[in-house]
Amino acid sequence: MDQAHAEEILKKVIAIPTVNDNEKEVADYLASLFAPYEDQGVTIEELAYSPGRSNLIVTIGEGETTLGFSGHQDVVDPGDLADWDTDPFVPTIKEGRLIGRGASDMKSGLAAVVCAMLAMLEEKKVPGKIKLIATVGEESGEYGAAQVTDAGLADDLSALVIAEPTDGMRQICYTSKGVVDYHVTSKGIAAHSSRPHEGEDAIAHLLEFANEVQARLARLDKKDPVLGKLTSLITLIKGGEQINSVPSQAELSGNIRTIPGYTNQVIFDVIDGLIAELNAKPGYQLSVDYIYPEEPMPGDAHSPLVQLLQKVGLEVFGHTLTPVGGTGASDGSEFVRAKGDYPIVMVGPGSDSQHQPNEWVSLAAYHQAIAFYQQFANEFFGK
Ligand SMILES: [Zn+2]
Repeated sequence: MDQAHAEEILKKVIAIPTVNDNEKEVADYLASLFAPYEDQGVTIEELAYSPGRSNLIVTIGEGETTLGFSGHQDVVDPGDLADWDTDPFVPTIKEGRLIGRGASDMKSGLAAVVCAMLAMLEEKKVPGKIKLIATVGEESGEYGAAQVTDAGLADDLSALVIAEPTDGMRQICYTSKGVVDYHVTSKGIAAHSSRPHEGEDAIAHLLEFANEVQARLARLDKKDPVLGKLTSLITLIKGGEQINSVPSQAELSGNIRTIPGYTNQVIFDVIDGLIAELNAKPGYQLSVDYIYPEEPMPGDAHSPLVQLLQKVGLEVFGHTLTPVGGTGASDGSEFVRAKGDYPIVMVGPGSDSQHQPNEWVSLAAYHQAIAFYQQFANEFFGK
């Protein structure tokens, strides 16, 4: 594939605004690029999440072993357009950088794996079975990856490379923290504050929960060698009606960043257990909801997959990719739930400008990424 064609594909996907919606347009466009190869055994499947939002699964090649490439099709909101020098959905090239929303996170990574796969088909050199998984809704809860995983479409993989930005392909992210966001509601009974015994104080009950949950989570004090310890914050709190009433309702939200030493079930058991204990007391009415919890992603810096990526990195870029841990969740946190115990890593061409105005990718890194993914696939299958 020539560079002009690869840049055209990247520009097209950036020009489709997919701010937590509208991913079907990207999925349809990418599907159209693979459609000419359907007579060569390429299979294309769209998995609809909701109207206008589709995951895309494309499989090329054949064999027992399946290498997965993945990327999300959504982007975050561009924010205040006055902070941008250019229109975020009109990809613009300046001094070797392509600027636009998603240039880094992660339409360049997605386009690069697509171009690598198209190059293999064009050259009739598909080294083995390769599956592309392009997801919806990564930025707002990884629910596209959750849907793909629940449908069993990630069960057959032997390894998965997610093309999330890793400092212009200088790093390999092989492990990351999970996330448990939760919301607790406390219901009480309103009464005049001069006769508090006639009411039930929803704020007092909620504060009891808040203090105790932090104490119990602090006891989960294993330390991951790369990711450090589990962290827990209560990030929002509100309640009550007016200054002279016993508060009849209160609520809080918390954000917990988990490590591979604790599955999210351990966290649920702590919170659910505390809620049940408190609700056993007279007058307590607490309930909890979890919002898109994400599992931590375990990994090994010295796994054969990481070593192979480093070897290919040295061949293609002339530098060694550094294995790192990530503090944020990604689609990888959903794919870890797939049946089949395979390694998941993130390596991609984007810069550290994700979620910022004037988001950019180096075009040199983009083109090198295409060569890298193609070479990596060849060596993965021993070719
Ligand atoms: Zn991303």
